[in-house]
Amino acid sequence: MDQIIIEDLQVFAHHGVYREETEKGQNFYLNAVLETDTRNAGTLDDLGLSTNYGEVCRFLDEYVKTHTCRLIETVAETAAEALLLAFPLIRRVTLEVRKPEAPIGLPFRSVSVKIVRGWRRAYLSCGSNMGDRRAHLDGAVAQLRADEKCRVLRVSDWIETKPYGGVAQDDFLNGAVALETLYTPMMLLEKLHEIEAEHHRERTVHWGPRTLDLDILLYEDCVMCTEELTIPHADMCRRAFVLEPLAQIAPYERHPLTGMTIEKLREEL
Ligand code: ADP
Ligand code: MG
Repeated sequence: MDQIIIEDLQVFAHHGVYREETEKGQNFYLNAVLETDTRNAGTLDDLGLSTNYGEVCRFLDEYVKTHTCRLIETVAETAAEALLLAFPLIRRVTLEVRKPEAPIGLPFRSVSVKIVRGWRRAYLSCGSNMGDRRAHLDGAVAQLRADEKCRVLRVSDWIETKPYGGVAQDDFLNGAVALETLYTPMMLLEKLHEIEAEHHRERTVHWGPRTLDLDILLYEDCVMCTEELTIPHADMCRRAFVLEPLAQIAPYERHPLTGMTIEKLREEL
């Protein structure tokens, strides 16, 4: 990715744990590396196709002055998120908040917090076999679209499928969604649980009937397994009702553990 780099933007603000800091204020310095594609802007010499670094500086200056935090960790976290939401062409930002006048009582050059935040690609599967199945699935996509921390990129067809797992129940409607998100995997799972709950999803029979099931299939190249969350989804390679719609929207995406494309996994099933 190309980079637009801002060095040592000076902002006088009131962040700090001590009362003296919030009352008197001090200088903070921001370093930002904005990852974005500058080729079109560069080729056509058109600022409208790039991210205006002047606007970014004014945005950061305003944000850091008007939001007072105790920790520079919080300044970095919230300013990075606000920046990513305000400037849609920035894919990722490295933001460093420096505080060289921090009241430490020892000689030092500077202290800072530096974080990397950005839009992450995720694939979800969705299914319903109770009530108005189409309305539940369409509703879930609408709720994802309404969340500013998610950008829905593609939605597969809703496909009619037979139930899985041996419980007698009605047929399912299944699909897959591609999105970019600012959520971590765990935060995304919580968001999906909230949406399921709004559709009166009840967890009674394992693999039983449900108004709405939303699962995370892939999240970037992430491989993780905790009590609450396994990514890639543990059963995705064995489920046609997952691979079929996923292959529609992401045939050449690779499963990070097998290295196989979704299309290949679908063929092999
Ligand atoms: P299933 O989706 O297997 O039919 P549930 O929707 O009831 O069953 O999910 C049960 C639990 O599975 C969730 O509460 C969640 O903590 C866990 N889980 C583990 N990995 C994932 C994942 N990749 N996506 C969604 N849930 C997951
Ligand atoms: Mg689920």
